[in-house]
Amino acid sequence: MAFQDTTQRFLFENADVRGELVALESSYREVLAKHDYPEPVRELLGELLAAAVLLSTTIKFDGLLILQASSTGPVSTLMVECTSDQAVRGIARYDASRMGTALNELMPDGILAITVDPQEGQRYQGIVALDGATLADCLNGYFENSEQLPTRFRLQADGRAARGLLLQALPADRQRDQEQRQATWEHLNILADTLTGEELQSLDNQTVLRRLYHEEDLRLFEPRQVRFECSCSVERSGNALVSLGREDALVLLEEHNGEIEVDCQFCNTRYLFDRERLVELFDAAQEHARSLH
Ligand SMILES: [Zn+2]
Repeated sequence: MAFQDTTQRFLFENADVRGELVALESSYREVLAKHDYPEPVRELLGELLAAAVLLSTTIKFDGLLILQASSTGPVSTLMVECTSDQAVRGIARYDASRMGTALNELMPDGILAITVDPQEGQRYQGIVALDGATLADCLNGYFENSEQLPTRFRLQADGRAARGLLLQALPADRQRDQEQRQATWEHLNILADTLTGEELQSLDNQTVLRRLYHEEDLRLFEPRQVRFECSCSVERSGNALVSLGREDALVLLEEHNGEIEVDCQFCNTRYLFDRERLVELFDAAQEHARSLH
């Protein structure tokens, strides 16, 4: 069976509501393959990946969307990045000696920062309290209490595939009456809630939509590909060393017998810097700083 890594938009023809269905397999597996994560972390990371892709499709931007969750619990950090053309990567930091299963055990009192980092223009950040039973509940609560368009998430991940469903109310166009709009929005959400987690996890998009909305007039768009891709490079790893300062970097080099290794935590690529390479880096950084003055 071919792996599917897609996100697919749909639109209700008679309501101001759009939807999105995401399915991640090989990209999710690539994220998981870099580390030996415990099962609850694999699932939570999958849900966050699905959420990131869904969110990326609701925002008009050219750049990077970053979801970073942190807590003092067993899972200290979860981070997922999704570009505006749906290249994803992700990582988790955790303490395996004190795992749990529920979100409030894994990340008690956690927060999730949603950052939109466009190539041009202002950075935007929103903060979501991780105080719900599931990640989807937390995101739903955030959107309910924000000025943004009403938005509902369903998320599901089992360590092999991550799936998600999003519904978002659009500005008034097809329906103008506020009460009618509200009733339609609630109706479509109640139907979405009838989908079991198992169904969301296992059924293809067409089947999901037929099961939920067979009475609605739906337009289904072409699926867009999602892929795993890491944005690390020898230059970026070098920049991390330059930020230490020349003296400290040279001390570090001594301590590591003349070779500093910088590993990318997202993809496990190993970048090596010896003395010659390090001096080159600092000379280039100095030259660059001078040219700016
Ligand atoms: Zn990398």
